[in-house]
Amino acid sequence: MTTENVKVLIIGSGPAGYTAAIYAARANLKPVLYTGGEPGGQLTTTNDVENFPGYPEGINGPQMMMDLQSQAERFGTDVRFGLATSVDFSGYPHKVIVDEKHEIKAEAVIISTGATARYLGLPSEDRLKGKGVTACAVCDGFFYKGMDVAMAGGGDSAAEESTYLANLCPTVHLFVRKDEMRASKIMQDRVLNTKNIKVHWNTEVDEILGEEEVEGVRVINNKTGVKSDIPVKGFFVAIGHDPNTEIFKDYLETDEVGYLKVIPGSSRTNVEGVFATGDATDKIYRQAVTAAGTGCMGALDAEKFLAAKEMEALVE
Ligand code: NAP
Repeated sequence: MTTENVKVLIIGSGPAGYTAAIYAARANLKPVLYTGGEPGGQLTTTNDVENFPGYPEGINGPQMMMDLQSQAERFGTDVRFGLATSVDFSGYPHKVIVDEKHEIKAEAVIISTGATARYLGLPSEDRLKGKGVTACAVCDGFFYKGMDVAMAGGGDSAAEESTYLANLCPTVHLFVRKDEMRASKIMQDRVLNTKNIKVHWNTEVDEILGEEEVEGVRVINNKTGVKSDIPVKGFFVAIGHDPNTEIFKDYLETDEVGYLKVIPGSSRTNVEGVFATGDATDKIYRQAVTAAGTGCMGALDAEKFLAAKEMEALVE
């Protein structure tokens, strides 16, 4: 095991991680950023991003992440490919092990590990990801304006996102695998009162149809066994996300699902010097721009923390 001392360690390379890096580097904190297993994060699985302020013509998701990386590197961020595999936040400095073989002792840690959208796990779904299959209605709904679409899910996300799509698309087919939705009553009522959302109860997705792009969905009624094909241009999955926070659970407080808890209005966790940002802390908004905003908070909070530490050391 090799060991290295680092001032600010950033774990994760989505909009939160890179924004934290830009701010930390410009504050001369010499951040080291580990990208994780999916450099660039969730945005690398989308095509065009049209809702990030400052890109009037929109920008391709992977390109946007490369731009963020260049911007972070321009100010001196040391961006490295590697996965944080375990941590020890019981003492100080904080310890993070990368790829099970390199130990980093960090004065401040900014966690930006994001969340992973759950998919159904069908081969056809995987093949058509980014070609009509997506897990983010707010990001991609606009591309299907005027077209019929479908969604799988029955929780608050599915309720919220199907009503969002109903403002853009003539028909939204919502496939709910039970005979009831898990979503809160008020959100369900909104779905059921929206004329162009057609709820298909007890319905599971068997296959996404289409070779080069989505052309329809084959569903099966799990009560009757009857299969049917529904023509749509877009298929949205809204069956939940998993925050990428497993390695922190022994030290950091999470909610019941695993999202890291921060002190409201800050990025501070229950461990001094450990800051949490982006989708790893956020099950409501999950947008690139909100993640970037909290990434900025993470760097500013880390800077303040380190300045206070230095002051303490001077007084002693
Ligand atoms: P969720 O509450 O975990 O609901 C997931 C839904 O997907 C459930 O209806 C589940 O069905 C269904 N599902 C799971 N696996 C499936 C599969 N393989 N095939 C078909 N359906 C499947 O997830 P969420 O809706 O993303 O919400 C996550 C959390 O964020 C919740 O606490 C929610 O309240 C919160 N949230 C709040 C808001 C808001 O307040 N505005 C908005 C979005 C989310 P079953 O019910 O059959 O298990």
